[in-house]
Amino acid sequence: MPSIEWIMADGVSFDLSPIVDLLVIGAGPTGMACAIEAQRAGFSAMMVDKGCLCNSLFHYPAHMTFFTTPELLEIGDLPFSSPNQKPTRNEALEYYRKVAEYYRLDVRQYETVESITGADGDFTVHTSDRFGRPSHLRARKLVIATGYYDLPNTCGIPGEDLPKVKHYYHEPHPFYGLDVLVIGGKNSAAIAALELWRHGARVTLVHRGAEMHRHVKYWILPDINNRIKNGEVKAHFQSTVTNISADDVTIATPDGSITIANQFVFALTGYHPDFPFIERLGVQLDANNDRCPVCDPATLESNVPGIYVAGVIVAGERTNEIFIENGRFHGKLIASDLTRKLRDHRDNLAVLTVVEPLVGHLRNQE
Ligand SMILES: Cc1cc2nc3c(=O)[nH]c(=O)nc-3n(C[C@H](O)[C@H](O)[C@H](O)COP(=O)(O)OP(=O)(O)OC[C@H]3O[C@@H](n4cnc5c(N)ncnc54)[C@H](O)[C@@H]3O)c2cc1C
Repeated sequence: MPSIEWIMADGVSFDLSPIVDLLVIGAGPTGMACAIEAQRAGFSAMMVDKGCLCNSLFHYPAHMTFFTTPELLEIGDLPFSSPNQKPTRNEALEYYRKVAEYYRLDVRQYETVESITGADGDFTVHTSDRFGRPSHLRARKLVIATGYYDLPNTCGIPGEDLPKVKHYYHEPHPFYGLDVLVIGGKNSAAIAALELWRHGARVTLVHRGAEMHRHVKYWILPDINNRIKNGEVKAHFQSTVTNISADDVTIATPDGSITIANQFVFALTGYHPDFPFIERLGVQLDANNDRCPVCDPATLESNVPGIYVAGVIVAGERTNEIFIENGRFHGKLIASDLTRKLRDHRDNLAVLTVVEPLVGHLRNQE
């Protein structure tokens, strides 16, 4: 969107770029629901995402099946039809694309929000594109719906920065016939270990817990436990990886330290929201409550007037508390508050945005 500036004779400039009622940072399922509900309430809305639409879902394992049934992933009251009891990643991407098309959602893909200036009613959102070119967008209200999947929890193991170490699992083929280590004991680790083994990798799993985590889904747990019992997937529980080198890994097990041959490592030990980014936007994090953003639970407006939080980030470090099933309702809460706060201005908002600062400036000239 071109920026339009009006420079007065005395050099003071006014940003006359078009302003949108609501700008949503993050075009995941929650961000989309926020934009849709704002539009349905009569406001203009735009989303900005540093990747593609639903970038996190796109980076989930290629053959992943959602844990949730289709209707619990629905947004904008658009039915999610699937022949499967649990939809696949590709079906979900297809559905969210169709939703974006149906609501003609304005989504700026491959634009990273770097910072914001301004205040409630007139924020300037500073972005950079894939080539690092800066740009800015104006909005009356903002939603931060930036998810948690972009930042992996690292383990702090020597060698963890080697290119053979991955914090994201995508698909099994490139690991056929190789020694692969999976670090973790929850769903992502179990799913990756099973798929890698089923596609011919020699899989070893290391978990500091005494057994696979109780949060592993009931239809996955017996499968991974049987593979381990049969020795098809080698597992070291109550164990940690102490070193990763080019050709092997060292594991501290209850029976002592062992070193095994290894070509690839999947450290699937969870992810976390971009807390420094959230704080950079002025939103406080509650250190006594798992770094949850400070906000009004009834409206999700943060401590910064005009800035709302939505989706998984609302629960801070507790990243398994809010997911699509419940995060999708955040949009309605925010849209109701927008209606309360912007209702009286809705009709002449466009005029006000230009005239008000100009009048203010001219008054100061007197
Ligand atoms: C393997 C796996 C399986 C899952 N299965 C289910 C399930 O079955 N059911 C369920 O309900 N949930 C499931 N979840 C959880 C669910 O996917 C997340 O909770 C959900 O994606 C969170 O939605 P969100 O919109 O809050 O964040 P996200 O979907 O993560 O979207 C955030 C967006 O913000 C963008 N972004 C971040 N920073 C910036 C920035 N600075 N500038 C611009 N854009 C930015 C990102 O690119 C991303 O697209 C699963 C998660 C995983 C990992």
